[in-house]
Amino acid sequence: MHTTTKNLTILGSTGSIGTQTLEVVENLQNKELFKIVGMSAGRNIELFISQIKKFHPKKVCTISPADAKKIKSIFPDIEVFSGDEGLIELADDKSLDIMLTGTSGYAGLKPTLKAIENGTNIALANKETLVMAGDIVTAAAKQSGAKILPVDSEHSAILQSSNGRFDIIDKVIITASGGPFLHKDKAEILNSTALDALKHPNWNMGKKITIDSATLMNKGLEVIEAHHLFNLPYEKIEVVVHPESVVHSAVEFVDGSIIAQLGFPSMHIPIQYALTWPCREYGIKTGSFSFFGQKLTFEKPNYDKFPCLSLAFEVGKTGGTMPVVLNAANEAAVYKFLRGEIGMGDIFKAVEKEINRHNVIKNPTLDEIFAVDNEVRARVSG
Ligand code: MG
Repeated sequence: MHTTTKNLTILGSTGSIGTQTLEVVENLQNKELFKIVGMSAGRNIELFISQIKKFHPKKVCTISPADAKKIKSIFPDIEVFSGDEGLIELADDKSLDIMLTGTSGYAGLKPTLKAIENGTNIALANKETLVMAGDIVTAAAKQSGAKILPVDSEHSAILQSSNGRFDIIDKVIITASGGPFLHKDKAEILNSTALDALKHPNWNMGKKITIDSATLMNKGLEVIEAHHLFNLPYEKIEVVVHPESVVHSAVEFVDGSIIAQLGFPSMHIPIQYALTWPCREYGIKTGSFSFFGQKLTFEKPNYDKFPCLSLAFEVGKTGGTMPVVLNAANEAAVYKFLRGEIGMGDIFKAVEKEINRHNVIKNPTLDEIFAVDNEVRARVSG
């Protein structure tokens, strides 16, 4: 078999998506498919050191300069960077074929944009990139020819089902598990603690996204993400609650045919598809879904119990800097909730308050986006 090895850099290699990406790469039957050339990590330096030993990247980056120094002393032959600037150094590498952005939060945006400008394909697990700067990012990708390949399971399902023909679809159907509070009443949801919210029924994910799944804000961010990724108006995006998480999302074509992607809920599938697109490869197979004895159920989202979802639709339609406010206020409020400083119901209140006071900038520059982001984040955190 003829293969060209692709140079891959992973931002956030010690996180939930990063570690699963390394599992995917390690388990590919064809070991020649990828060479890991760069990796970045946050605070889990012991794990990062073991990953560097195993995958031998040329360049790495840590958040803190002290950790970078420690890594350099162990691996003197590797280029070591630190901080946000270091991430841009990793991303700004013309030899890269694909970069997986697995860092959560807004730190992923600048390096992702840098790689896109160079024409590097992006396996995108970082929602903020499209939510904050979707117009800028998609315009840059169009200009350079870089492909943005979703790692998010719903968007991966849509890409797989669409066959790339977004010109002949009526709508996309994004499924939502509904999170741990799906059938709880409103009062119970409002009084929930971080511990209750972290019990996600189906997916194994990081803490922030697990809280976002409990409020359905994650689905709201995914709606905005889908709008940008597939260049679709919000009227063509529908959310359906599907607690079993077997149908990962679907596409309805103009002739009424619906094509969905189904499977065992494992992030390995969308990660591997983003890396190997448009091909499929033998590799890790976490599980197999059996149709026998299974019941798949679907219901309308309850916007009264989960107001973050309708807010996200509204904010997405307004566009400009409004999604930046939604994302920043939500992230700051979620971290407060995780620290036990506010209740579950306060997350929506904090976000709504910021949305209501914001004067939208229609076509913001990157600097304006970061300014709004910082301002909102500081006010909500304070
Ligand atoms: Mg998702």
